[in-house]
Amino acid sequence: MGTGLAKGLTLLTFRDGGEERLGVKTDQGILDVARAAGLLNMYAPTTLDNMLQQEDGPSVQAVVEAAMRDAAAASAFRPETGVEYGPLVSRPDKIVCVGLNYRKHAEEVGAAIPAYPVLFNKFNASLNSHGGTVTLPVDLATQFDYEVELVIVMGRVARRVSEEDALTYVAGYATGNDFTARDLQNGRGGQWMVGKAIDGFAPIGPYLVTADQVDPDNLTIECRVNGETRQSSTTADFIFTTRQMVSYISNFFTLQPGDLIFTGTPAGVIQGQPKDQQVWLKKGDELACSLQGLGELAFRLV
Ligand code: ZN
Repeated sequence: MGTGLAKGLTLLTFRDGGEERLGVKTDQGILDVARAAGLLNMYAPTTLDNMLQQEDGPSVQAVVEAAMRDAAAASAFRPETGVEYGPLVSRPDKIVCVGLNYRKHAEEVGAAIPAYPVLFNKFNASLNSHGGTVTLPVDLATQFDYEVELVIVMGRVARRVSEEDALTYVAGYATGNDFTARDLQNGRGGQWMVGKAIDGFAPIGPYLVTADQVDPDNLTIECRVNGETRQSSTTADFIFTTRQMVSYISNFFTLQPGDLIFTGTPAGVIQGQPKDQQVWLKKGDELACSLQGLGELAFRLV
């Protein structure tokens, strides 16, 4: 077993026979890492949760490299078409979210530009997957809204880390959506959790792209609803950069490998439109969220 962050990989979680398994996207298809390790008599963690929490990227890298050149592992590859995705991770120690982190978004919802990152949280039951469905609790809320966001996935224990060092603790990045019920967020006494941490309200995926391949503060970011572009911006417009967010959050909460940080959404949400023009999301809507180089996260509302 190695220790350290994986490099050069596009990782995912897929479902097979009721199990969630670690996959790697390659030119030869999706590699079932545990199966390849078995065929090659090598060791590798079997899930992305395990890879992150054991801080064992190098073992996965070694299996991928061996599988790409050894025909004995050929049956461990499968075409990506037809792959059923699971949530990228399922048991992070914590999911921390940053609100109002793009200037134009803060302005569109009538909020002041924050002097410090605005923090809230989601729960593990909020996690959802690429190709998944978000169940709208229509008996509790009516104002459902999207928020495409860059998600930071932690790779090493980070406690009170400096801004300068902060990104060396990051395993990689993913596309996410901080799905929200605005009437619950804003109408239940002033804190946001009840509108944001509902079961299934944190789709993430399809991929975790390792940090060495990503310039996180310079990515285009988009959200489409039923094919219509609603949000289109760049993470270069962050108020607080990724290194500032990781450092700041680590002052209060020790960040563990596998922890997720949702980094805020750009302008273009439904809440930002004039009140008489707001058409909230409804059952049947199809959402597609993307960040440059991280893949497109698609999900449907039911
Ligand atoms: Zn958000």
